[in-house]
Amino acid sequence: MNVFVFMRAYNSEYYVAIQQIINKVLETQGKVFFPKLVESDILKAFQFIPQLVFWDTEKPLGKDVDLVISLGGDGTLLATVDLILDANIPVIGINFGRLGFLSYTSKEDLVLVLENFIEKNYTLSHRTVLEIINSKELVGKTFYALNDVSIHKIDTGNMIFVKTFINGTYLNAYWSDGIIISTPTGSTAYNLSCGGAILAPETQNFIITPISPHNLSARPIVIPDSSVVSFLPEGRTKRFAVSADSKHFFLEKEAEILVKKAPFTIPFLQMPEDNFFSILREKMKWGDDLRNEMQKN
Ligand code: NAP
Ligand code: MN
Repeated sequence: MNVFVFMRAYNSEYYVAIQQIINKVLETQGKVFFPKLVESDILKAFQFIPQLVFWDTEKPLGKDVDLVISLGGDGTLLATVDLILDANIPVIGINFGRLGFLSYTSKEDLVLVLENFIEKNYTLSHRTVLEIINSKELVGKTFYALNDVSIHKIDTGNMIFVKTFINGTYLNAYWSDGIIISTPTGSTAYNLSCGGAILAPETQNFIITPISPHNLSARPIVIPDSSVVSFLPEGRTKRFAVSADSKHFFLEKEAEILVKKAPFTIPFLQMPEDNFFSILREKMKWGDDLRNEMQKN
């Protein structure tokens, strides 16, 4: 078993988890990959052995990696999309962050996760990815997002106006601070803050949700994920920010932003007892109501 241990920076809190991963992988005669960025930190904390590989994360992963383990919070897990791309390698997040809604596995369960993976005792939840189709022409790079793509105003004080088209057909125009297109995975993130519905994972939809719209009638709308969506932001100062999860770029002119489903999914590794609705109740206090407890007595 070859495991890629993904992190954004080394943290001494990861020491035990990394040692557990190295031990398990060595039992299987495999290799442990780390981002090149943390090479010197890892070599300070751990003894060098030839089974450790330091990988330039700008390069796509080889097919010889069997599993990606993300150490951090949701933001770290989201960043693995740019490493995994279409390699179809399962990923699981061990929570060292704040909320850890996607990266919900606790470090105490890490050894069990590795054992279950070896024994093939798991399921995969294939997560849709959003792609900004024309970002290469706009800023020279393709942007992928597991959660959402959003367009924001930059300048405080003024609203922006975002004309939105689905498969070339006019949908609506929003006077707002911006607009979000979210995957089911991202529906519990920014979309939720702006009043959008929660979509269960693997639901084949996107949600378009305005950010603080100044229209009583502007409501989030659920659309099929086969749609190509186009946003045309306009505003007094013609400056906009475009985000894809935690990444972003700026536009200094009014330009069309084209978004569609990427041609690959990211398989989230799930343990047999993992359950989206219980994570929703535990992490988000969803449906929390004092009366539910009273009902039991
Ligand atoms: P962040 O500022 O740390 O994210 C905001 C919070 O959302 C964090 O507590 C994060 O968990 C959590 N989160 C991220 N993805 C989630 C998901 N799919 N379901 C439930 N909670 C989630 O930045 P980040 O961690 O890099 O996450 C980027 C995301 O932040 C964007 O994709 C966008 O959806 C969201 N965002 C939200 C707002 C808002 O709600 N007003 C504004 C901007 C961006 P961790 O603490 O574990 O990282
Ligand atoms: Mn975060």
